[in-house]
Amino acid sequence: MSSSETAFTEICARIEHAATQQKRGAKLLAVSKTKPAAAVRLLAALGQRRFGENYVQEALAKQRELADLTLEWHLIGPLQSNKCREAAEHFDWLQSLDRLKLVAPLARWRPPTRGPLQVLIQVNVDDEASKSGCRPDEIAGLAAAVAAAAPALQLRGLMAIPAPHEDPAPRRAAFARMRELFEALRRDHPDVDTLSMGMSEDFELAIAEGATMVRIGSALFGARTTT
Ligand SMILES: *Cc1c(COP(=O)(O)O)cnc(C)c1O
Repeated sequence: MSSSETAFTEICARIEHAATQQKRGAKLLAVSKTKPAAAVRLLAALGQRRFGENYVQEALAKQRELADLTLEWHLIGPLQSNKCREAAEHFDWLQSLDRLKLVAPLARWRPPTRGPLQVLIQVNVDDEASKSGCRPDEIAGLAAAVAAAAPALQLRGLMAIPAPHEDPAPRRAAFARMRELFEALRRDHPDVDTLSMGMSEDFELAIAEGATMVRIGSALFGARTTT
């Protein structure tokens, strides 16, 4: 087995184990930022279909190289307004919606032939220093705007990147807070089904606290030399 095959098999088994303990499923998003298209192709050959990218231009270059494969592309990095058109045209999911003014351009540019853009609202759950993610009290308004933009957009849930504490206790608290926000969102939007949280260092903890999708980069592809 190649090293990426070993890593993939191990991560899938750990996700499965953590999810089974919760009597649920959890999906793997393979975060391929800074990694070459060839690395994506390798994982695709092992059965992985869902890939996450932070930068629109980098993602488009890889998509062109991998056009022969049927993959699901998630944009997980901060979205600038001048990139809404490319995001709407070239991604299946946007996990980083964090402000109202992006909703109309995303809906306008979504090609009807691609079906709805699947949208997660990114929440700044505990990181005062981070500029991405909305405040918890902004979720309801954003969710209503996304729902109103159907059929161009489809609201699927929430995403968060809690601050990287050494200590697991504050991380667990941030994940638990996200779970509460997710449950509250589901009361107004019963079709919402995705809570995206947890990365290489803490995905098992995130699943224990309710994540339905984990976003894993370095544990699958090896350490990044740049972010
Ligand atoms: C880079 C990144 C990840 C993956 O991080 P790893 O620690 O490499 O697993 C997940 N989510 C987002 C939003 C990222 O930018």
